[in-house]
Amino acid sequence: MPDTIRIIHCLKDNYAFLIVNPDTGTAILIDAPEAAPILDALKRESLTLSAILLTHHHWDHVDGLEALRKAYPAPVYGNKADAARLPALDHAFAPGDTILDGACHVMDAPGHTIGHVAFHFPALDALFSADSLMTHGCGRLFEGSPQDMAATIARFDALPPETRIFSGHDYAQANLDFAARFAPDPEALKARQEELDRLAASGEPTTGTTLASERLVNPYLRTHLPQVAEAAGLPDASPLAVFTEIRRRKDNA
Ligand SMILES: [Zn+2]
Repeated sequence: MPDTIRIIHCLKDNYAFLIVNPDTGTAILIDAPEAAPILDALKRESLTLSAILLTHHHWDHVDGLEALRKAYPAPVYGNKADAARLPALDHAFAPGDTILDGACHVMDAPGHTIGHVAFHFPALDALFSADSLMTHGCGRLFEGSPQDMAATIARFDALPPETRIFSGHDYAQANLDFAARFAPDPEALKARQEELDRLAASGEPTTGTTLASERLVNPYLRTHLPQVAEAAGLPDASPLAVFTEIRRRKDNA
């Protein structure tokens, strides 16, 4: 089956995503950092937008919305609890809801912001996690606590291992450099560095790694492991304490 997910580079290091339905010539958009590259991607395949899903209220995830809706007046979906900070919503959902005729499960994903959500499409083995769980890392804690983000990531960790994680930014290289300090699987680290070198040379996106592969290198999925606790300078500490310390060090990295 040809892959229906398109990854679009926006702004300096953001990603937006289209899920294409080739039968109807329509696409679902996840986040709208800026209009022009998304409009180009739609034009390239003669697609129209059928829905726009928003992960959180930050400007670099919503700023392209107005121009996109002028071209394609598709309904906008967002978290009801964050409606006051999001652009006007046509469909306000709550985390735990199923939307788009059952195709998408909305997962609560607080940490980066309190109202942050992720979109899981089980039939596509795809999780759109924006600035929560990211490729080889996790997002900055602007509003939530380490406990919030650790719980968010634990919810994702229960998804099937083949689930692909599509995050909202291209931070993969910086995240991998940081992850290398916390006892990642050495072979997975080496393989992933080679892959990032290849992607950088070809200009291809770095996101879309599987949950299984993230479990080998992403420190925030490995806080229960003794070697990670040790590398964080907290042998015998709880996974949450290890998580908190690793995230704190990233802020100061
Ligand atoms: Zn953000």
